[in-house]
Amino acid sequence: MAPIRVAVLGSTGSIGTQTLDVVTRHRDQFEVVALAAGRNVELLEEQRRTHGVATERAVAGAAETQLAELAALDDVDVVVNAVVGFAGLPVTIGALRAGKRLALANKESLIAGGPIVNKARAEGGGEIVPVDSEHSALYQCLRSGRDREVAKVIVTASGGPFRGRTHAELRDITVEQALAHPTWSMGAKITIDSSTLMNKGLEVIEAHELFGIDYDRIEVVVHPQSVVHGMVEFVDGATIAQLSMPDMRLPIGLALGAPSRLDEPFGAIDWATLSSLTFEPPDIGTFRCLGLAYAAGRAGGTAPAVLSGANEIAVDAFLQGRVAWTAIADIVDEALQIGAGPADDIADILDADASARSRARSALERLGA
Ligand code: MG
Repeated sequence: MAPIRVAVLGSTGSIGTQTLDVVTRHRDQFEVVALAAGRNVELLEEQRRTHGVATERAVAGAAETQLAELAALDDVDVVVNAVVGFAGLPVTIGALRAGKRLALANKESLIAGGPIVNKARAEGGGEIVPVDSEHSALYQCLRSGRDREVAKVIVTASGGPFRGRTHAELRDITVEQALAHPTWSMGAKITIDSSTLMNKGLEVIEAHELFGIDYDRIEVVVHPQSVVHGMVEFVDGATIAQLSMPDMRLPIGLALGAPSRLDEPFGAIDWATLSSLTFEPPDIGTFRCLGLAYAAGRAGGTAPAVLSGANEIAVDAFLQGRVAWTAIADIVDEALQIGAGPADDIADILDADASARSRARSALERLGA
């Protein structure tokens, strides 16, 4: 069989480099035909040479229209969207409109633009296979039953580095402490989002948009070992879980070759050394971002776009040492006061994103940052 042709957009980040690792190990099955990266020009050039990608198809610092064009190239079968943040939206739309399989690692595009993304998916006939470990788990568990047999889905959360701490204890934590994630090695923004549980909140919205399951049937459970990535409870009481040791190459491999599985194991469990798996409810009083995300998801329309946009500003400010970790939730909360408008087209989303960012910036100014 001819190899599956892959465009890796956001190729120099954590997911991008792991995607290229999977491709390199399975060159008989996959071939890279386009690359895009932000600022890491040297690594991009090295990747381009390693994979024999044409110069004009390895783009650094691409404009959004250029990214969308790469995602829609005729000879691309699978688009890996590993672009960071809201800039990933045009890639998602471009790939789905062109009827591609979208291996989606960029959360923000589906969260901010959910209604539009689903319209593009329906119109273009594209397919989304999630790369996020939790959604990949749900995608796998959902194969065990029919849609109408699903009672609820359970998204697991590691709880981040601050699990068990109180709000007062979290006021003075540093950027370094927040960046020290116990189980996953990821980019800075998503690591901070994990520490606030905003990442989990965004994943709840993502699950809603991906699988069409309403918020009352999406549950978050803290599971510090990060071995169970997601579960689906069916109407007869059976719960199906997906377990593996943390290794993103498993969900990446599945997204590249779906519905087939890779014939190389990543994260397989050694049951002789795995001692215990524990579960507890999230502390929503301390980790307020989770509740804010549910509220934005339920409000619908542009509210998730506001949540995501304001969070990017707040996390950025925290990473620059301008605000306390606890201020992230305050800033997002204030931005959500804008309210939810209709999300009928991309302009609505862009407007909501812009107002969210400006509202978050004024909140920052008032905090003296
Ligand atoms: Mg995740």
